Amino acid sequence: MAKSSFVDFPGQIACVLFVPGCNFDCFYCHNRQLIDGSEDTISPEYIANFLKKRVGKLDGVVISGGEPSLQPDLIPYMKSIKELGYKVKLDTNGSSPEIVERILKEGICDYFAVDYKAPADRYKEICGGAADSGDVLKTICILSNSGAEFEARTTVIPQLDADDLIRMAKELPVLPRYVLNPYRKPERFLPQDEDRVAKVPYTKSEIKFFAETLRAYQPNATT
Ligand code: SF4
Repeated sequence: MAKSSFVDFPGQIACVLFVPGCNFDCFYCHNRQLIDGSEDTISPEYIANFLKKRVGKLDGVVISGGEPSLQPDLIPYMKSIKELGYKVKLDTNGSSPEIVERILKEGICDYFAVDYKAPADRYKEICGGAADSGDVLKTICILSNSGAEFEARTTVIPQLDADDLIRMAKELPVLPRYVLNPYRKPERFLPQDEDRVAKVPYTKSEIKFFAETLRAYQPNATT
């Protein structure tokens, strides 16, 4: 849990709740302890208490992960946060279009951030065998057609080149905001990924240049 953040929810001061478990296995994941469940979880009572006390001090709550859409009680939980008066943002890997559709119907999310991690035909290579780019694209299209506030974002890992990024930008509908994030080597990674995580990251100016290039396809691409 991050108790206060100025950068995770555009325009809002928010806390961030990290939910355990994920159905992807991105080799560069920074929350590997959440995927394998090796980190102690904070009790729901502690979080409930914290959120009640911060009403009026924080604007919003970001539900991140791991992958929050795998939690069976996600929707009632988001409702309970809204009832406290908070704005809610959901970070998702996009693997559960049906859950996102239900959240939209319930009107319980103020902002969505969906990762688009690789060109469709490289998704399994980068995010593990269970990752389905079709589901991710469906989630993004649902959000795009709904008029909801959302962004898609891509971590520009060294394994993606300009051609990959252009293909990705073309695969996506025109987005209200498309954020390219820099890659940082994770502290924890699988032994077989030692070479992949050690590759030299792109510089800030290289990523800026990619964003400028992508604006031909995604006018709202940014860093
Ligand atoms: S989707 Fe996110 S939490 Fe899941 S493995 Fe990938 S980077 Fe980690």
